[in-house]
Amino acid sequence: MFPFTLLKAKNSGEAIKAVTTSSHFIGGGTNLIDLIKMNIEMPSLLIDISALELKKIEMLPNGNIMVGALVSNTDLAYDNIIVKNYPLLSQALLSGASPQLRNMATAGGNLLQRTRCPYFFDTATPCNKRIPGSGCSAINGYNRMNAILGTSSQCIATHPSDMSVALAALDAVVHVQGIAGKRTIAFAEFYTLPGNTPNIENTLQRGELITHIEIPALPFASNSCYVKTRDRHSYEFAVVSAAIALDKSGGLIKQVRIALGGVGTKPWRATKSEQFLTGKNYSKEIISEAAVIALQDAKTFTYNAFKPALAKRTIMKAFQNIEA
Ligand SMILES: Cc1cc2nc3c(=O)[nH]c(=O)nc-3n(C[C@H](O)[C@H](O)[C@H](O)COP(=O)(O)OP(=O)(O)OC[C@H]3O[C@@H](n4cnc5c(N)ncnc54)[C@H](O)[C@@H]3O)c2cc1C
Ligand code: SF4
Repeated sequence: MFPFTLLKAKNSGEAIKAVTTSSHFIGGGTNLIDLIKMNIEMPSLLIDISALELKKIEMLPNGNIMVGALVSNTDLAYDNIIVKNYPLLSQALLSGASPQLRNMATAGGNLLQRTRCPYFFDTATPCNKRIPGSGCSAINGYNRMNAILGTSSQCIATHPSDMSVALAALDAVVHVQGIAGKRTIAFAEFYTLPGNTPNIENTLQRGELITHIEIPALPFASNSCYVKTRDRHSYEFAVVSAAIALDKSGGLIKQVRIALGGVGTKPWRATKSEQFLTGKNYSKEIISEAAVIALQDAKTFTYNAFKPALAKRTIMKAFQNIEA
């Protein structure tokens, strides 16, 4: 550890004004403190935002849900509206980490948690995400947990958040506030692909604070689920996961949302599969075809060649769950 200053901000304005070139906001601290302890993040100033009034879950007049950035993962997962109207989100949250971590972890911090690529955590090895230009140890290394979609020659790390997979399926909107004012970012635009700059992971400007996450009203999201395939039943990140919401009338698929975790360098929306399914009659065979389409651009590496098949089975399982 190294010395840093801790500032407890009283409101958003104070938090934003305090930003420096080497500061970090701290929400629950469940990711950032680990990274500081391992000398991966070395902020000179920590801006504690835990006292800000961003802890409410509210329904807007248009039916959208506004989630304050400091709502804990536990409170969001067990909120009555989320459980009833967005089971995929509740299930995604409850599949993550442990009860103690979920009690501390905030919605804003969850979006910005860093990858679990083992080389990112190992400061003795090259990692372009940690030190741009140093190389990627995973591409020819032990890459079992790494991504197969959205990769580049510079980085193949997955985004680890379960919550973000559900939010991708729901077309959430991220509300942010910075020194230049407030703005919103559509979820599809929030995360960036690694390309040549894997150290840049999202479209936030330096010093912008996430204030809320808006979840659009989506009546058919009540018929949804999150399936997470992992190496042990709890306290484990996804090898592969799928968030599905289905609007079906009689046998006809009217609308569908599919997002995948554990396979992409960002939460991965399977839009081609959604387009393929829309307007078709529901059957196991048609879902299987859609699952193949979702993985058709996959590029596997030495130790994760099993992932496309596992992802297809995870998608099938998710559809079975909501049909059951
Ligand atoms: C052992 C373990 C297992 C885990 N398992 C899972 C799992 O299975 N699935 C899963 O999805 N997650 C898992 N997690 C990750 C956990 O969900 C995250 O650590 C947590 O959600 C981060 O939230 P936080 O509030 O603690 O973030 P912090 O650690 O406080 O912050 C994380 C980052 O977000 C920034 N930040 C925080 N809030 C804001 C804001 N409002 N605006 C702008 N920037 C902000 C911080 O500056 C920092 O860079 C696990 C973590 C641990 C330690
Ligand atoms: S995959 Fe990304 S995070 Fe992992 S070693 Fe390569 S550059 Fe680093």
